[in-house]
Amino acid sequence: MITSKLPNVGITIFTQMSQLAAQTGALNLSQGFPDFDGPQALRDAVGRHIASGHNQYSPMTGLPALREQVAAKIARSYGANVDADTEVTITPGATQAIFCAIQAVIHRGDEVIVFDPAYDSYEPSVALAGGRCVHVQLGVKDFAIDFEQLKQALSPRTRMIILNSPHNPSGALISRAELDQLAELIRDRDDLYIVSDEVYEHLVYDGVAHASVLAHEELYQRAFVVSSFGKTYHVTGWKTGYVVAPPALTAELRKVHQYVSFCGVTPLQYALADYMAEHPEHVEELPGFYQAKRDLFCDLLAPSRFSFSKVTGTYFQLVDYSQIRPDLNDVDMALWMTREHGVAAIPVSVFYQDPPKEQRLVRLCFAKREETLRQAAEKLCVI
Ligand code: PMP
Ligand code: GLN
Repeated sequence: MITSKLPNVGITIFTQMSQLAAQTGALNLSQGFPDFDGPQALRDAVGRHIASGHNQYSPMTGLPALREQVAAKIARSYGANVDADTEVTITPGATQAIFCAIQAVIHRGDEVIVFDPAYDSYEPSVALAGGRCVHVQLGVKDFAIDFEQLKQALSPRTRMIILNSPHNPSGALISRAELDQLAELIRDRDDLYIVSDEVYEHLVYDGVAHASVLAHEELYQRAFVVSSFGKTYHVTGWKTGYVVAPPALTAELRKVHQYVSFCGVTPLQYALADYMAEHPEHVEELPGFYQAKRDLFCDLLAPSRFSFSKVTGTYFQLVDYSQIRPDLNDVDMALWMTREHGVAAIPVSVFYQDPPKEQRLVRLCFAKREETLRQAAEKLCVI
């Protein structure tokens, strides 16, 4: 009899819904990934580097050229100077980066504050470190941090707060003013760390600027800031990400990372370094690229019975279905939409410890070709 270390963990909702979409032939707007490829030049570069013999281990900390590109991009995007050698670590995906950051600082009995709805990898990572998640709910409508509740949740055992902006699944952003408020709240707690999950950092719309923890000098001193090349370059299957943290935190993170994976995939790192050097404009063009998809999808959905307001970040659009099937909870709604109407979605309640009873929301991914968005909207408009 195995004594499970994660007795409450099953197969993730992303796997379940993608499998159901495949079985039923539904359009898959559930698990977040593009149905188009990353840039041709980026993909060609991988082949080139494999052919030219870049196939052995990269340095544990990541390819220096890629770390330098990341530092240069951070300087351009946020005006922050981070040291490529001592503050940037390349990881096989943001999920691994988050896991390593948590293992690096969470001890048995520590508490970690997560904001619900929370990305599904945080809680198991905390549990494996022997810690415990304390859940604070974001606003039911605006998905904003309630600072009163956050204050209540802080205890002498709180060792970490996990932020996620732009936020999956809601698309909400944490503002600079909210970062300031957080900095003030924890100013006298020098034993408290932050993981800032910013994997959608470049998917921000309507001219709004992403308030990165990298640009917040005070918070950065206690932070691990995580991002993913998968989202930024439309290559989620490459599972390549990075974490930026001050030198002392980076040193602890690397102690874990070197025994979880040692290093990332070498030819992918070479290709990303080349592409970033040659196409610094890529990240600047990304908001416009995805905003056009968001706008198209929302315009196409306007005549439907779903209600929604356009997201400001991520490639997910939440839609409220209470005018369609108020009798169904969101898991049943997502299953019904997939099986009966040919569009797979993600229910939101699964990201809560205690889901708000009145909420009737599902998440749709709009990182799709125009044709897919049109076909999906056509189906969604007749529900
Ligand atoms: N955090 C959030 C909020 C995400 O949506 C994702 C996407 N899967 C990740 C982390 C993980 O990114 P990666 O695929 O690079 O591990
Ligand atoms: N981040 C992706 C999403 O939110 C899923 C990643 C995964 O399947 N683990 O849909």
